[in-house]
Amino acid sequence: MLNPGATIGILGGGQLARMLALAAAPLGLKCHVYSPDKDSCAFDVVHARTVADYEDEQALARFAEHVDVVTYEFENVPAKTAAFLTQHTTVLPDPHVLETTQDRLAEKNFMHDLGIATAPFAAVHSATQLAEGIAKCGVPAVLKTTRFGYDGKGQVKIERAEEANEAWRTLRHAPCILEGFVKFRREVSVIAARDADGKVECFEVTENEHRDHILHISKVPAKVSVELAAEARRVATRIVNAFNYVGVMGVEMFVVSHKSEEHVLVNEVAPRVHNSGHWTIDGATVSQFEQHIRAVAGWPLAKPQPLGTRVEMINLIGDEVLDPARWLTAPNTALHIYGKGAPSPRRKMGHVTRVWPGK
Ligand code: AMP
Repeated sequence: MLNPGATIGILGGGQLARMLALAAAPLGLKCHVYSPDKDSCAFDVVHARTVADYEDEQALARFAEHVDVVTYEFENVPAKTAAFLTQHTTVLPDPHVLETTQDRLAEKNFMHDLGIATAPFAAVHSATQLAEGIAKCGVPAVLKTTRFGYDGKGQVKIERAEEANEAWRTLRHAPCILEGFVKFRREVSVIAARDADGKVECFEVTENEHRDHILHISKVPAKVSVELAAEARRVATRIVNAFNYVGVMGVEMFVVSHKSEEHVLVNEVAPRVHNSGHWTIDGATVSQFEQHIRAVAGWPLAKPQPLGTRVEMINLIGDEVLDPARWLTAPNTALHIYGKGAPSPRRKMGHVTRVWPGK
């Protein structure tokens, strides 16, 4: 258990690191952010910073010396960086989770081995496997690169079997996973926190709407039955337990109906705080950021409760951040601007949370 005054090292300097540091401060914990980008928006609010590449072992060793624990705000931490840091300090969540979550195929196999339902899927490393995958998953299907995909990048929808080869060509024949296209009723996520003693606390199930493959709005409560919400939380709990995870994880799911019953299929997991959990800063008794800080500091988790009957988080993408007055005067509305400088299209620049008060 870290003492107040201890320093948490964070790999990555984006808005997630910034909001982690803002949550650590009231607990008397300091943050030291390590990022290769000298303009990282997290630097505005941290105790210390390191600007260096993730491969720079001297800088990593110095960083490790100055912090009491290391965590990360993104899942593509290079395996070598994580391995190097674990020799010098404690890294949480344990980087073994990255081997699974950096690779969509390994992730789906992990879910399959746990008996957790997903879309039908197949590995695609050759033209033969692609044809077999189409036969197994059917069409429409989605072909995704196994690594480095986000916000819809690195994926192509296949409507007809004849389009499969061309789709794989557009992904430059990278190793891929083919997934059957899920006709989901809605998309939801569960933000789960697990502490060092193995205690798990899940936030209320969140419903998510995307625009151009980027998260647009998250809403709580999700329009799902009490039973389905419990199932979603159970699934997320099984996943964090299976990883022996310490920290906050975002679990994205599709809600599907089968013979008039609704179920969840896991789409993907993020071993970090998650955009669909930003509503918890203003809309819950504890935020996902504080829960993550508590967990990696070895502190007990809080029991989260929503504040209000309804909470909505809207992402401000690109130019949408340029009209703050619109939100500043709206009732029960909190504005978060990430301080990233000039907006560019598709870039997450901030978010707004609206809370409907009441019990
Ligand atoms: P991902 O990068 O896997 O999170 O996918 C981004 C978005 O694409 C998801 O939030 C869904 O809206 C959509 N999507 C991804 N995979 C599938 C699938 N197998 N079936 C239907 N829609 C999908």
